[in-house]
Amino acid sequence: MGIAKLTGTPFAVKSGGHNMNPGWSSVEKGILIKMDRFKSLEYDAAAGAVHLGPGLLWKEVVPQLAPYNVTVVGGRVPGVGVGGLILGGGLSYLSNRYGMAADNVLNYELVAANGNIINANATYNSDLFWAMKGGSTNYGIVTKYTLRAIPLGPVYGAIISYGPDKTDEVMAAYAEYQKSGVNDVDSNVLIQITSDPGYATLVNLIYLKPVWKPEVFAPFYKVQARFDTSQIMSFAQYILMQEQEFGGLLRWQLRGTSYKASLEMDRKVVEISQREFVKPMSTVGASILIFQPVAPSVVKAGNQRNNGGNPLGIESVGQTWFSTCAGWNEPKNDQFIYAASKKTTDLIEKESKKKGLYLKYIFMNDAFMDQNVFESYGKKNFDRMKAIAKKYDPEGVFQRLWSGGFKLFQTWCSCQN
Ligand SMILES: Cc1cc2nc3c(=O)[nH]c(=O)nc-3n(C[C@H](O)[C@H](O)[C@H](O)COP(=O)(O)OP(=O)(O)OC[C@H]3O[C@@H](n4cnc5c(N)ncnc54)[C@H](O)[C@@H]3O)c2cc1C
Repeated sequence: MGIAKLTGTPFAVKSGGHNMNPGWSSVEKGILIKMDRFKSLEYDAAAGAVHLGPGLLWKEVVPQLAPYNVTVVGGRVPGVGVGGLILGGGLSYLSNRYGMAADNVLNYELVAANGNIINANATYNSDLFWAMKGGSTNYGIVTKYTLRAIPLGPVYGAIISYGPDKTDEVMAAYAEYQKSGVNDVDSNVLIQITSDPGYATLVNLIYLKPVWKPEVFAPFYKVQARFDTSQIMSFAQYILMQEQEFGGLLRWQLRGTSYKASLEMDRKVVEISQREFVKPMSTVGASILIFQPVAPSVVKAGNQRNNGGNPLGIESVGQTWFSTCAGWNEPKNDQFIYAASKKTTDLIEKESKKKGLYLKYIFMNDAFMDQNVFESYGKKNFDRMKAIAKKYDPEGVFQRLWSGGFKLFQTWCSCQN
């Protein structure tokens, strides 16, 4: 930090390297701080806490904790990094019961803008602690996360594939689940409508107890599946099953939006996305439409964790965090894909506003770099986050020199005002 500051050299920080936004964890003509040697994992049973190095991947965390019958509220896909996921809030298969990953942080150990190593928790630097739960690259380089240990034994897990002709029935099952099933805090669902004919529509179901084919998922079982991997298994086994390969594509882009739970809206989202995104994408690469149900319990659990709350500003209503995901190879198609994704989410937002179902929250971990994530947290939270950034980084080192991540200030100039 000292060298970067003294010489005015830009730097970037990379943990799992999985963020799809270009330049988020890489830098040209600057210093790349790779966290991949920060891989310590320590389970403190007496404190009910797990200390994690940010360089760990979730596929290293979950299996290492399995012998203790504990886990943490963390990533769903094995290859993603601990470092970036938690700073974006972090949506987990445990979120319906325990809130976001960030809600379950007990302590951040970080390198502050002046180069000092400091801690932030509910009692020490508590304003910084609050701001970091979705604060991206504005407050410090995390060198250790301490997360709440969550007791967890065997679970029910399934990945179910449905043919393209079943999309509407799957969306109806999803809406049915969102009516009440989603309030069963042991359940969690993830839907991906993929352009890969081998996968087609994938529905991931997990129940945090060893209950065979739980009743909450009944709407999905009624739709005829192509394959169904239902099993009672360890949580680690389920996480390791989530690794996906989509034809070795090199360039990826996510773009997210949120809306209140509604089958009518889900159908509209599918219709708009098929026309504006999936069809154009089919000529240049792969596409995935991602539907993530978020129950009011996620917000409630977050608030109840007795840890000072978070700045995310998520409304306490049943909702979907939707995103388009594009994969392609040719740089010449970048602009075309950006335009297709943007048009899709713009049209979806227009429709959700028309129907009174629009939600302003944009989930950082699914957001493209031009989306106003911090504004979506609400003005009060955004203003408070900016004030906290000025307090801990009065010279704006992280705004000026840290390349990548969502920034609170567009330019350091606006930070001074
Ligand atoms: C296949 C896939 C599955 C995903 N699944 C989920 C999911 O289930 N839930 C979810 O919430 N998100 C998910 N995501 C989104 C993912 O959490 C974000 O892309 C996240 O930023 C990735 O973190 P990383 O450490 O792998 O990435 P990186 O690219 O290394 O880092 C991402 C950002 O965080 C910053 N950063 C990284 N480490 C640190 C650190 N130690 N201190 C300060 N800043 C740091 C980087 O500078 C960069 O700006 C998924 C993404 C992919 C590609």
